Amino acid sequence: MSEYVKDLMADLKAKHPAQPEFHQAVQEVAESLSLVLERHPEYRSAKILERIIEPERVIIFRVPWVDDQGEIHINIGYRIEMNSAIGPYKGGLRFHPSVNLGILKFLAFEQVFKNSLTSLPMGGGKGGSDFDPKGKSDLKIMRFCQSFMSELFRHIGPNTDVPAGDIGVGGREIGFLFGQYKKLRNEFTGVLTGKGLNWGGSLIRPEATGYGAVYFAAEMLGTKKQTLEGKICLVSGSGNVAQYTIEKLIQLGAKPVTLSDSNGYIYDEEGINKEKLNFIMELKNVRRGRIKEYVDKYKKAVYKDIDPYLDHNPLWDHKAQCAFPSATQNEINWIDAQNLIKNGVYVVSEGANMPTTIEGVNIFLENKILYGPGKAANAGGVSVSGLEMSQNSMRLPWTREEVDNRLMMIMKNIHRTCVDMADRFGTPGNYVNGANIGGFLKVADAMIDQGVV
Ligand code: NAP
Repeated sequence: MSEYVKDLMADLKAKHPAQPEFHQAVQEVAESLSLVLERHPEYRSAKILERIIEPERVIIFRVPWVDDQGEIHINIGYRIEMNSAIGPYKGGLRFHPSVNLGILKFLAFEQVFKNSLTSLPMGGGKGGSDFDPKGKSDLKIMRFCQSFMSELFRHIGPNTDVPAGDIGVGGREIGFLFGQYKKLRNEFTGVLTGKGLNWGGSLIRPEATGYGAVYFAAEMLGTKKQTLEGKICLVSGSGNVAQYTIEKLIQLGAKPVTLSDSNGYIYDEEGINKEKLNFIMELKNVRRGRIKEYVDKYKKAVYKDIDPYLDHNPLWDHKAQCAFPSATQNEINWIDAQNLIKNGVYVVSEGANMPTTIEGVNIFLENKILYGPGKAANAGGVSVSGLEMSQNSMRLPWTREEVDNRLMMIMKNIHRTCVDMADRFGTPGNYVNGANIGGFLKVADAMIDQGVV
């Protein structure tokens, strides 16, 4: 680690202690950017990195709501408006009990680079709450969303800040949030993305992150003149990203064999096919059940509960060629990374945000596998959110084919940017450096153009 990065990290930790995920995200980016700062002292003298790690604005608010029994609950709401140099703040809302300021700052920080990579005019933001939607009735979810938006509405807008979904925030929640925004503002605008199709949503938005992560893997394989056909794939999570990752993998002839939720994971050696995926979608999106139920229906598959005492995740310890972590941050540690390599995995395309620890990433890089970090590989979601914003502005929806083609082109371009930037800065094949540098340059130049603000 260079002296500059060491000092930057020491300062950051002193100023913002107890935000380990944020420190981790900044460290990874700062290490990549040392290569740029050596060649471009103008970024250093303009203190671009020091500015980019400080959110432009952080909004924290109380979210009180009343349950069906009349009991009052209080959650914390957040919106991190990280960087608006290249467009309105853009990034999802996460509802999960683990949400805190540090986690949202890491996500908002990653989002700045990711959004820049898409080549669409979007700044970076993220938000959410420590509210746990799991097992709650639609009515409770609606009351919570309405209370959350009763404060958030004054900070967002189609030209200011445009939130979307993330963990725990899907179509249902976006609907309730949009309804409350519309009522309070008395206007129908594209203030959120991930909307329903008949009220301003875009075709392919639900599919976009998962499809995009698979397109990115296909591009990486393309550099070795290979395809996904016949590849065995490990996928974690069973939410939005995991489901559409599996759908696209099946379409391209690959064989996904795992899925998980926060209680455990399933391994289906025969492969998850379209019929089994339909079962999972119904289980997760309609019945809102647990992944364990998969093995009640498909008897040859096996289920394992999460063992909190285990130092690794057994999901990553199966023979395969590709891995698509699609659940949450730091779900692959260095032992998992070693297990993946030992089992023959040489393509990792991250659907989740920062699912691999720094030690795990280093193992991927040392072994020179095709490793697509989240800010590049999962940028498909926000890309189609950007396309949803364009359609809302034009008040003209595009067809499924049009949006999917644009998504595919954007993922190809992001891949090309990563490869070119990694080459240009002397680390060919290093998609981490490629993504960090590619995302950084556009934002840094815009910040210089706009002065010290
Ligand atoms: P989701 O629909 O809520 O699904 C999340 C999945 O991950 C669920 O199966 C959940 O299991 C599991 N999970 C969550 N926290 C976990 C934990 N601590 N341990 C184990 N499993 C956990 O969310 P999603 O939209 O698919 O998001 C998944 C990941 O992709 C996140 O990292 C998100 O930031 C990233 N991402 C999403 C988008 C998007 O467009 N949605 C775009 C870019 C990146 P339970 O149901 O048991 O909680």
